[in-house]
Amino acid sequence: MYAKVDEEVLDELREVVGDDGVVAGEDQLEPYSHDETPQLVFRPEVAVRPRDSSEVSRIVTLANSRRIPLTPRGGGTGLSGGALPVFGGILLSFERMNRIKEIDTMNLMAVVEPGVITADLESEVANCGLFYPPDPVSSDSCTLGGNVAECAGGPRAVKYGVTRDYVQGLEVVFPDGNIAKLGGKLLKDVTGYSLLDIIVGSEGTLAVVTQAVLRLLPLPGHKVDLLIPFDNVQTAIETLSGVMRTGIIPSTMELMEGKSLKVCEAYLKREIPFSDAAIHILVQLDGNRREDVTREYEIVGELVLDKGALDVMVAEDKSTQERVWEPRKNLGDALKESGNLFVRDDLVVPPSQIPTLIDEVRRIEDKYKVDIHCFGHVGDGNIHVDIEGDSPPGEKTELIHDLYEVTLKLGGSITAEHGIGFVKKSWLAMGLAQPEIDLMKRIKASFDPNNILNPGKIFE
Ligand SMILES: Cc1cc2nc3c(=O)[nH]c(=O)nc-3n(C[C@H](O)[C@H](O)[C@H](O)COP(=O)(O)OP(=O)(O)OC[C@H]3O[C@@H](n4cnc5c(N)ncnc54)[C@H](O)[C@@H]3O)c2cc1C
Repeated sequence: MYAKVDEEVLDELREVVGDDGVVAGEDQLEPYSHDETPQLVFRPEVAVRPRDSSEVSRIVTLANSRRIPLTPRGGGTGLSGGALPVFGGILLSFERMNRIKEIDTMNLMAVVEPGVITADLESEVANCGLFYPPDPVSSDSCTLGGNVAECAGGPRAVKYGVTRDYVQGLEVVFPDGNIAKLGGKLLKDVTGYSLLDIIVGSEGTLAVVTQAVLRLLPLPGHKVDLLIPFDNVQTAIETLSGVMRTGIIPSTMELMEGKSLKVCEAYLKREIPFSDAAIHILVQLDGNRREDVTREYEIVGELVLDKGALDVMVAEDKSTQERVWEPRKNLGDALKESGNLFVRDDLVVPPSQIPTLIDEVRRIEDKYKVDIHCFGHVGDGNIHVDIEGDSPPGEKTELIHDLYEVTLKLGGSITAEHGIGFVKKSWLAMGLAQPEIDLMKRIKASFDPNNILNPGKIFE
């Protein structure tokens, strides 16, 4: 169905990106053959590292005219296999397109190339007193191109929203090689259908993102983190909805269960306070005036203690805050190292349903005799479910079916932020109605009639 990358294609690619922009050879291609999805390896035939959008356009045109699959890749931190070249072909890496081109302090916008590491943008704009809120926990190694493609969220989504809410403009290369500018430094624009909005979250299947214009906010002057242990999950979640009803909107509300804390203690080789608690909630409050933030954390502190929290640990300075966040930030790596992970799932339900979801997960854990860790963005109802065990493949499939069935029954969805990618495409029909899937396939076909751009993702 697809053509192979032969010597002639390699020569053409070298002509476009130079010899040092072409990566070939088994060992050299190894880093491009996996992402952070457990147990998946697909090696590309070649990886190319363009320097600008015109080079990207020439590569895309070449792939399209010869029907060679082309897979965009950012930081390779994806958890749904989205950046893996499942049909081989050309892997398009943005490691040489990693410039922050402009920080526009008048319009509060940044213009960036797709290979910029997310945390680098956050710290660069902070130097100008500005704030880029989307903060995937992988922000030290994921890229803005990957964030746009996945519509990444993160802990701060509960107050500040997700990547989509900050993408004002995109430069993209369509699968026929044409370069287009969509949107720009505009806060309003309703000219025709919003192609920009359909590309955000399209998992690299509709267009290649070569530049983004991202909205910034003024940097909040103060933030405080509260580490709140509870001995009961249900009470903790009920208390959080009580916090929201006070009118205070925390910038994060993260959850870690007791058994995940133990895994982190072993990984970090240090004691975590209250690691015997059933659950820790990490609440962050931010604002411009110290006295407002202090007043808010006093209100939250009193409320949660009143409802049964075991304690409230307050972190006001940077080093204590980093220590408080360290277990949450390292949990993914700790779980990866500790066991035999076969699923890193990403469910979302209305926040009030989280206790029921966690109860159901425990039932499924007992039924299939696996070990399940629930953690994540409890404030917006998004729970990560990492599963370890050596069940036979058929049982693993049944387990995932049970998990999604429960999630959907609770009014949820099978992915909140990691995307469908390769790993969830066989479950798409469970999460969406057939007419929606058919319409999406027609959209894909009209962007990419030869199906060369990131094939084998989202749809079977
Ligand atoms: C420890 C850990 C914590 C995480 N925490 C979060 C979290 O809090 N929130 C969250 O949302 N996700 C999280 N993730 C998942 C992952 O980091 C995000 O999906 C992130 O957006 C992926 O970015 P990336 O640059 O690594 O993209 P990749 O993994 O390289 O690619 C992801 C997708 O984007 C496409 N793509 C990449 N660049 C482009 C481009 N320029 N044009 C078009 N398509 C492109 C790829 O084809 C692929 O489909 C986490 C992952 C890990 C390992």
